Amino acid sequence: MSITRFNALNTIENRPDPLFFDTGESEFDTIASYFGENVFGEDAMKKHLPEDAYLSLKAAVQSGQKLSRGLADVIANGLKEWAQQKGCTHFAHWFQPLTGKTAEKHDSFFTMTHDGRVIEEFTGGALVQQEPDGSSFPSGGMRSTFEARGYTVWDPSSPAFIMEVGEGKTLCVPTIFVTYGGEAQDFKLPLLRSQSFLDRAAVPVCQLFDTNVNKVIATLGWEQEYFVVDEALFNARPDLAMTGRTLLGRPASKHQQLEDHYFGSIPERIYAFMRDLETESHKLGIPVRTRHNEVAPSQYEVAPIFEEINVAVDHNQLLMDLMERVARRHKLRVLLHEKPFAGVNGSGKHNNWSMGTNTGVNLLSPGKEPSKNLSFLTFFVNTVMAVYKYADILRASIAHAGNDHRLGANEAPPAIISVFIGEAMFKLLGQIANGKKTDDAAVKRAIDLISKLPNLELDNTDRNRTSPFAFTGNKFEIRAVGSSQNCAGPMTVMNTMMGLQLIEFKADVDKLTSKGTEQGEAILMVLKNYIRKAKPILFEGNNYSDEWKEEAKERGLNNFTNTPEALDVLSKKLAQEFYGKSGIMNAVELDAFHQVQLHGYVTKLDIEAKSLVELVHSYVMPAVLRYQTELADNIAAMKALDMDDSIGYQKDVLKRILKNSGEIKEGLDKLHKALEKVHHANDLREEADILCNKVKPQMEIIRDAVDDLEGIVDDQYWPLVKYRELLFPR
Ligand code: ADP
Ligand code: MG
Repeated sequence: MSITRFNALNTIENRPDPLFFDTGESEFDTIASYFGENVFGEDAMKKHLPEDAYLSLKAAVQSGQKLSRGLADVIANGLKEWAQQKGCTHFAHWFQPLTGKTAEKHDSFFTMTHDGRVIEEFTGGALVQQEPDGSSFPSGGMRSTFEARGYTVWDPSSPAFIMEVGEGKTLCVPTIFVTYGGEAQDFKLPLLRSQSFLDRAAVPVCQLFDTNVNKVIATLGWEQEYFVVDEALFNARPDLAMTGRTLLGRPASKHQQLEDHYFGSIPERIYAFMRDLETESHKLGIPVRTRHNEVAPSQYEVAPIFEEINVAVDHNQLLMDLMERVARRHKLRVLLHEKPFAGVNGSGKHNNWSMGTNTGVNLLSPGKEPSKNLSFLTFFVNTVMAVYKYADILRASIAHAGNDHRLGANEAPPAIISVFIGEAMFKLLGQIANGKKTDDAAVKRAIDLISKLPNLELDNTDRNRTSPFAFTGNKFEIRAVGSSQNCAGPMTVMNTMMGLQLIEFKADVDKLTSKGTEQGEAILMVLKNYIRKAKPILFEGNNYSDEWKEEAKERGLNNFTNTPEALDVLSKKLAQEFYGKSGIMNAVELDAFHQVQLHGYVTKLDIEAKSLVELVHSYVMPAVLRYQTELADNIAAMKALDMDDSIGYQKDVLKRILKNSGEIKEGLDKLHKALEKVHHANDLREEADILCNKVKPQMEIIRDAVDDLEGIVDDQYWPLVKYRELLFPR
């Protein structure tokens, strides 16, 4: 039997509050004493690996070189020893298929020899490569199911860890997921490729300024937003359970107008959940550090200290997994969807991105020494130029069904990609761009100015919260990423666009110096040229305004307001060259990636439409009809008593019910017709188009009518948990 609204409300009424949970040994320990205890990190490696194996592994990770089979055996053995001492019985290759979630297939260490002896083993072969039955993962047609072999291959650059689920402990090995032919079918392989591509492109540029630089890594610090609701209420909302968002629901009269939730005190139940989540995260080496209430009621944020990009991506994926698991322990549910509730803010995942060198320099950090600022300016301007050129590809990397409810929907970042750099930098770039070619002293003066800017001014660039892409003092913050997304998608694009841009920059500078221009002068000339070209992408104003839409159009910036349109670029020359030249994805991989993204969109919308139809028929309308009958009976009874004068109210309500019911009926009819068309579409792109432009609008019409009914039908009849109950728990 399904859980009814009143059952659910009763359940939370009787829930002990606050809930106290045993969060393990951490209670009185410092975080440092257990941080990373479930990770095969430095200490564990030193303890469980022979010294030469430890050094070879480290060297291989640094250089990206292949490990020998013999070495893999030694490492596997050390890993097994460590894991068994910690109580693991199984190991798993952990990977990130294009579903956006994580996947794992467990095998036990226990096995039988050919002569029937029971042993526990973990070979180098099992560590390095596995063949999960991956036929059900999206591959965009790269593998047909009869040749479904997909392989997971160890990624030594992300450390192995132990996943604890209840009493069970599993050694997890981070891997990439590829076809038999080695083509990427996950988010990780393109990310790893983009990382080394950026490294190769950025080092020669760094060496223009400092010959000691021989490695550049991309860094990522994500900020994860999420909602939390009570589990019983969640279970009484089939739409939340099926689609991750509410398909119906009248906004509560109080939502976020008072802005009293943002940074407010954290409710005790949520606080217990957060502490538990943090402990679990810290054990896994996820450096979460910040927690606070977000703008919408029942919305929160968690953020870590930034890390090297590959590890940061893994940690975010792990965290999302932990959140869902830990929440259940607390009889709560975490909603990672971008827009679980209409009328209040949605959830994003800001991706703070920068680059660091082996010499410990953040390449996007302006310094106090004027001599260093030409380097800062170089990386800064090249980032702006890269976004200018490849904005459409960045837009595609954040396009998915959930994010369509945020981007361009008059809250959070718009679908138009632009860059906000703050007043101080904006002025400076203007001075450089307008400086006369003959007067490079003026430009140099402008650069010297960077070092004289008070820190405050640069740090405060964060103030424009409406921008999808903002410079925040020493990093760029990509704010348009969706809360449920794997960061690897947009981060791969960032690394790649930067790599391509830096290669071009180096070539442009070389061209000038080979003709005898002094290097500093050449760099300045090239940057000046870039600033002039990239100017249309710089926008300091209010991104939510209608004027910006107009202005952006005049500037030639695209505004793709839905996923199918935003993804179209993936089949165009721009993307083919972008991914092809950089080697991040070949033509087959790119096409498959595009198909998988479209397929995900189509599937999600189809599920949403079907869930809505079912909810309307089996939940909403029966309640509406009952109340309608009651009203009609009342009117008839009053008439029988000759009290026609006193039935005005009843009649008005009845009329409103009938009007809404009529709209619902019409909406459902059109919805069915549109869904029928989807089944007869020729390809995924056409299906996506119909779902987006025919099905979705009908869903909105039906929703409006149902939400109006919610406001007039007897509360005792209304079967779905209301917004105020979900969002404002006692
Ligand atoms: P907010 O954006 O809320 O003001 P902060 O600016 O303090 O918060 O930091 C947001 C995130 O940016 C954190 O995860 C932080 O670790 C990360 N961050 C800081 N410096 C860098 C960097 N050089 N590269 C990548 N991320 C960074
Ligand atoms: Mg931020």
